[in-house]
Amino acid sequence: MTITAVMPTYARTDVVFDRGEGAWLIATDGRRFLDFGAGIAVTALGHAHPHLVAALKAQAEKLWHCSNLYRIAGQEKLAQRLVDNSFADTVFFCNSGAEAMECAIKTARRFHQAQGAKHKYRVITARGAFHGRTLATISAGGQEKHLDGFAPRVEGFDQVAFGNMNEMRAAITPQTAAIVVEPIQGEGGIVPADADYLRGLRTVADEFGLVLIFDEVQCGLGRTGKLFAHEWARVKPDIVALAKGLGGGFPVGACLATERAAKFMSAGTHGSTFGGNPLAMAAANAVLDVVLAPGFLEKVTTTAEKLWSKLQPVVAKYPKVFGQVRGKGLMIGLTCKIPNGDVVAKLMAHGLLSVVGGDNVVRLLPPLIIGEAEIDAAVGMIDKAAAELSA
Ligand SMILES: *Cc1c(COP(=O)(O)O)cnc(C)c1O
Repeated sequence: MTITAVMPTYARTDVVFDRGEGAWLIATDGRRFLDFGAGIAVTALGHAHPHLVAALKAQAEKLWHCSNLYRIAGQEKLAQRLVDNSFADTVFFCNSGAEAMECAIKTARRFHQAQGAKHKYRVITARGAFHGRTLATISAGGQEKHLDGFAPRVEGFDQVAFGNMNEMRAAITPQTAAIVVEPIQGEGGIVPADADYLRGLRTVADEFGLVLIFDEVQCGLGRTGKLFAHEWARVKPDIVALAKGLGGGFPVGACLATERAAKFMSAGTHGSTFGGNPLAMAAANAVLDVVLAPGFLEKVTTTAEKLWSKLQPVVAKYPKVFGQVRGKGLMIGLTCKIPNGDVVAKLMAHGLLSVVGGDNVVRLLPPLIIGEAEIDAAVGMIDKAAAELSA
């Protein structure tokens, strides 16, 4: 037997983390790392945040799981808070980003089909997109490396160039039900959409009666300095998928929708055994306690401004290693001139965790709670790592 007990679907770095403290992770061998990957934008409030720990402990003493056959108080509270702070009127809870996207796609199809438009099922997505690893979401993402060996593709996804409104319009047919776009592509390499493009998608969706879905699984929940990245463009979608940061490290996803879009998602149309379970709701409500507190999101923006202003000159200092800094808020991509995996490895050797992304990008997705000390430490590590890589 050569296969590992854990199915080897990941190329893992040989390190085991034992515990976390704020923006820091401590490995079993005692090494300390500054966590600017945050479990891929998940641990938005860092590790072992006292408020989150207390909330989860308190819930763990009371009730772990309760079926969706019954009302769940934490769901009602979290849904109302998401509704009060967004475009949405209603929320479905699930356990991951891919599941949030599945709900979004199902809701969009049902919107048309329940009104008699049985032929409307196709969804237009953008090249470079990532929407998850289920059969439907790998078809939505359209990336060969994710589809290879998993034929046949789930039918009904059409792909156009990200940011190109002419291609978007040209791809719309009588069968089109919805458009799905990440306001900032994450896995694709931190590629922000223009505000004009996002507004244009709203116009085109209205013109053709399509459902406009934003995948904010990575860029949502305060990462850009707004609760939702699309708020920067002042555009209102019909549906948004949310996950990663929502539980601060506890698995939880959410599909937010307007009343109009979700009108036909009646009892029995969709479900999830674990979706919105009391532990997940306790974690997510605790995350919102912090993120929605007055001044928190403004602070994310000022923190991001400090990080960007210190990062940019260091990146400019090493033109053999780096190209540009791009993204928004604390969702940052460094384009690389050498393989991004080499940069991530060198950063890790200097004590900084980062994440590779598409388009040869290194992603910096620090917890939203970092301060001056973490910014200075991270930029110092990037400086040293890049100096070695340049030599
Ligand atoms: C991570 C991600 C997903 C998938 O989330 P999972 O929790 O891994 O299923 C979907 N969309 C975007 C934009 C993501 O970044």
